[in-house]
Amino acid sequence: MMLAEKLSGTPSDADDPPLETIGFHGLKAGPKLLVMGAVHGNETCGPQAIARVIADCREGRVRIARGEVTFLPVANPKAYRQNTREGDRNLNRDLRERPQPVDNEDRIGNRLTAILRAHDALLDVHSFSGEGVPFVFFGPDDNRGALEPFRHAAAEMEFAGALGVELMIHGWLDIYVRLIAARERLDLPRLAVTEGFGTTEFMRFAGGYGVTLECGRHDDPVSVDVGYAAIRNVLAHCGLTDEDPPRAERRTVVHMDDLVICEAQGDRLEGSWRTGDRVAKGTPIARRADGTVVPMPRDGFIIFPNPTAHPGEGICYLGTESARRR
Ligand SMILES: [Zn+2]
Repeated sequence: MMLAEKLSGTPSDADDPPLETIGFHGLKAGPKLLVMGAVHGNETCGPQAIARVIADCREGRVRIARGEVTFLPVANPKAYRQNTREGDRNLNRDLRERPQPVDNEDRIGNRLTAILRAHDALLDVHSFSGEGVPFVFFGPDDNRGALEPFRHAAAEMEFAGALGVELMIHGWLDIYVRLIAARERLDLPRLAVTEGFGTTEFMRFAGGYGVTLECGRHDDPVSVDVGYAAIRNVLAHCGLTDEDPPRAERRTVVHMDDLVICEAQGDRLEGSWRTGDRVAKGTPIARRADGTVVPMPRDGFIIFPNPTAHPGEGICYLGTESARRR
């Protein structure tokens, strides 16, 4: 593609819809919370759950007493209107500011990063394809490393644990680094580690914290209820409302620490797994194109099984019970 052509953007950029936020400012001081949905346009439980909470706030069923909450019901309007996961590309990858945006997600990113910077905490509401229980992704432990330095691990974990979902997973960027290494061994085009940076990683970079809530199947009405309950719970947890904060309950905390990569066309998942399934060491979990069985390397959990993985993609990710306990 010629540079001039690249700089002109995608053909539809003249039609780019604006981002709409709705905010409530408590009259007492408190934290600034951002709740958003439809980073992926076909994940409609976020916008629906957020609409219910906005109605609650407007009609007085929920009273924001302190702090601020900003709702961004649809983070990717182009993808949402198309009912597709992406507009031009995945908004939840390589999210950063760009002086020369070239596609829909670049242009959204320039506004979205500014919105993220203006808040202390983020709840990013998603849904998934296939079956499985709701879960929440949270970030690394406090560290001064090069990949994702962080100092709000305890607060972020409490926030994640307050949402009301039983399964909590961490280790996203570590596994992304492993995916890059695995692709390199297969001589596939190199991915940049910045590709792994989405909304929550940007939030941590900007000095706050944030979690990704996966509410359930895209088209399951229960996903909306899960999202709605989670928003109400964090409003109470952060003290924005005077409701009793949710009771601290023991959660299953999983460290995503390994993956099975698709090495060649024909490598595939063995069995029908769902994210969060506990699997014993030795259980066949994948089969190579030549028939070789890939066994579960240790007792642990299956995460993001992908029945249609292409070479260089994860067939599934693996996790173990985390040392980080809530
Ligand atoms: Zn999503």
